[in-house]
Amino acid sequence: MRRIQHFIDGQHQAGTSGRSSDVYDPATGQIQAQVDLASVAEVHEAVSAAHKASQEWSESSLTQRTQIMFRFRELLSDRTDELARVISSEHGKVVSDAAGEVARGLENVEFACGIAHHLKGEINEQVSAGIEVYSLRQPLGVVAGITPFNFPAMVPAWMFATAIACGNAFICKPSERDPSASMLIAEWFIEAGLPPGVFSVVNGDKEAVDALIDHDDVAAISFVGSTPIASYVYERATSAGKRVQALGGAKNHMLVLPDADIEMAADAAVSAAYGSAGERCMAVSALVAVGSAADELVEAISQRIPDVKVGVGTEPGAEMGPLITAEHRDRVAGYVERAQQAGAVAVVDGGNADLPTDGFFYGPTLLDEVTADMECYQDEIFGPVLSVVRVDSFQEAMDLINSNPFGNGTAIFTRDGGAARQFQHEVQVGMVGINVPIPVPVAYHSFGGWKASLFGDTHMYGPEGVRFYTRAKAITARWPDPASSQIDLGFPQNS
Ligand code: NAD
Repeated sequence: MRRIQHFIDGQHQAGTSGRSSDVYDPATGQIQAQVDLASVAEVHEAVSAAHKASQEWSESSLTQRTQIMFRFRELLSDRTDELARVISSEHGKVVSDAAGEVARGLENVEFACGIAHHLKGEINEQVSAGIEVYSLRQPLGVVAGITPFNFPAMVPAWMFATAIACGNAFICKPSERDPSASMLIAEWFIEAGLPPGVFSVVNGDKEAVDALIDHDDVAAISFVGSTPIASYVYERATSAGKRVQALGGAKNHMLVLPDADIEMAADAAVSAAYGSAGERCMAVSALVAVGSAADELVEAISQRIPDVKVGVGTEPGAEMGPLITAEHRDRVAGYVERAQQAGAVAVVDGGNADLPTDGFFYGPTLLDEVTADMECYQDEIFGPVLSVVRVDSFQEAMDLINSNPFGNGTAIFTRDGGAARQFQHEVQVGMVGINVPIPVPVAYHSFGGWKASLFGDTHMYGPEGVRFYTRAKAITARWPDPASSQIDLGFPQNS
């Protein structure tokens, strides 16, 4: 059985804890590898190597960091297909979708190639007679990223690209369900010339996460995952005095007004609800249809569902793969069953689809007549289940969306510019699409939700990522003539 180890101090290192976890191929249901789960002592070893590496790396020139990042960018770009296949085999998403994830992660690396621009400080000359004030941003030291299963390459890239370019050493604790993407990235960084210890991978579960959070030499924690764990990580890490950004779960609403192009809205809803089997934090899971839009949309979406090609991720033409585990597939099926008991109408039930039985497949599902009090509306199902909530007015839709505890992404589909403007202004959500169903910001903006979708106050990557992975230093300087020197016990004032 293939064994996935740790990557510490520039090399693969076998786990010594004696604990491991199965890594499945979700398309076949077979165990394909075992990943070592780190003990506290192994985490300490990784932090110690990273700490040593960070001391030299923080002194590296911007030229050196940029050149390494460019070389890594070339490797990642050239090997997109290889990485996408590895992701597909452990996650289940189709290879084209995995390649899309790599491409979006690559954008973060490209952003980091321009780090010299992002680290430019500010200066004021002559704030007082002969005095300058300027500000610098310096790295934190060792920073850790704890990442979810659903984007095993892109979410780590949201973190490591900026963290490393800013001069930090980065320790990745990937999801134990699909850890191989991080291991490849670690190897490719060494090939690109990154010094050993600047990028490490510690595989593990709660024990490794807690050990990273609790270690005094880990200065900051970036987390992406479900809301309960994000909340836990945020509380534990802030109590330990750390800087934390913890991104949680989501319930993303797509609002469709009656004036929208219904065919276009239906295409967008199918793509955003069923792409990656709904296992995206920006997936649309609640379709809020105003007035007459509802009947037309339900009809248009149900016509499209039979054409969605569900299959093994490596099969040519496959558009949607399996779910991550058998337990998760059963959990999704449970939601669909209970939704119907609560009064929702299963226009299409993916549990009845004719799909391979070996893997963890569940077909695209469309639930109509869903109401806000139903479990299927309130919980993040994280599967290919789209719930249609019918409302009578734009205002009713806004009230529904704004009273939801999550605030990750949302979208409006309309031809009415005034309604779109009001939506973008009033909606209590961090990332908003106007006729764009999955509004993931480009790498030079920042990514983050509001409310229960983000704990902490810094969004991820882009300019906010640079601020998160550095701390500011303000310098007040003068070069006076020593002859003018005198004692003055008063508080310094500017003149
Ligand atoms: P998860 O919360 O189960 O796991 C995330 C990470 O936390 C993993 O590395 C896991 O090993 C670790 N972890 C799990 N249980 C832990 C515990 N008790 N203590 C400490 N660490 C623990 O999430 P997941 O199932 O891997 O990913 C899916 C979730 O991630 C969804 O809720 C999705 O919305 C969310 N997500 C959010 C974003 C975002 O940007 N907001 C992006 C991607 C995924």
